[in-house]
Amino acid sequence: MSDPVFGAGLWNFASYVDRYATDGYAEPVSTLEQIRLAGEVGGLSFVDLNFPFSHGATIEDVQAALDTANLKAIGVTPDIYMRRFGKGAFTNPDPAVRAQAIDLLHEAAEAVRTLGARYVKVWPGQDGWDYPFQVNHHDVWKLAKDGMREIASAHPDLKFVIEYKPREPRVKMLWDSAARSILGIQEIGLDNIGVLLDFGHALYGGESPADSAQMLIDHDLLWGMDVNDNLRSWDDDLMVGTVHLTEVFEFFYTLKINNWEGVWQLDQFPFREDTVQTARASLRFLRALNRALDELDIDALREAQARQDAITANMLVQDALLSCMRKDD
Ligand code: FE
Ligand code: FE
Repeated sequence: MSDPVFGAGLWNFASYVDRYATDGYAEPVSTLEQIRLAGEVGGLSFVDLNFPFSHGATIEDVQAALDTANLKAIGVTPDIYMRRFGKGAFTNPDPAVRAQAIDLLHEAAEAVRTLGARYVKVWPGQDGWDYPFQVNHHDVWKLAKDGMREIASAHPDLKFVIEYKPREPRVKMLWDSAARSILGIQEIGLDNIGVLLDFGHALYGGESPADSAQMLIDHDLLWGMDVNDNLRSWDDDLMVGTVHLTEVFEFFYTLKINNWEGVWQLDQFPFREDTVQTARASLRFLRALNRALDELDIDALREAQARQDAITANMLVQDALLSCMRKDD
């Protein structure tokens, strides 16, 4: 049994503002300081970097900080969701703003090349609507797909992953589910666009994350993942395993039986907790989960599933899952 390869979004080490604590829960943390904190966790190999970098850091500064922290870039996430894109990036009613989003994505693509990362991560959080009758549904969905096609076809040597999410910041997001992401990518018709499945987004979108993962794998589109937890009614980005113990186990079981080899990435927003400690707690949990996967009697589980025997299946899961944490160092 080998340890999984772990990563984290750099935003795990940022400070946060919400609509109440508009002074932020802590002082702002620069990109370079976030990289240093990610290195301090121990056990992380990769980070996903928000782009542009903050406090004037250049790409050389970032590369040097990554080297010092013994980290690599897995992806670059351009901030196509900030104030100027409030009414959408790809779907903004103003063509000049749409062009700005595409320009920023071109810059992010260049950063991916320079850093040797695996993909540009596209999170179109403002592409959607807030009110009934606010948009022409045909037109905005077409703009969303056309924008993705334009940027991905301009960089055939790179991969682009779309991270879907049901809502927030937009009241309703266009790329909102696993099924719609598959449909949209098929309609775009390019082979360098895939999906990053965020466990928490699937949960609060009412999906079974294991089922969503399987569906994406069956379409060769599961190119990345984020893991976290929530109370299902919001994207709380809590520490992994603190709420949905069985479902997160089924999610990783699904990845295992499909021989999915990718980075187990944290996407947590520790508003009030220490950012390094929360990451460590989640890695501790994920290592135990990985041991549990090793102990799980998969043959017996498959037999039980063939009979849809929920009782046996869950007893097998509990045997493995509830015995593995104490073995941690
Ligand atoms: Fe995420
Ligand atoms: Fe999220």
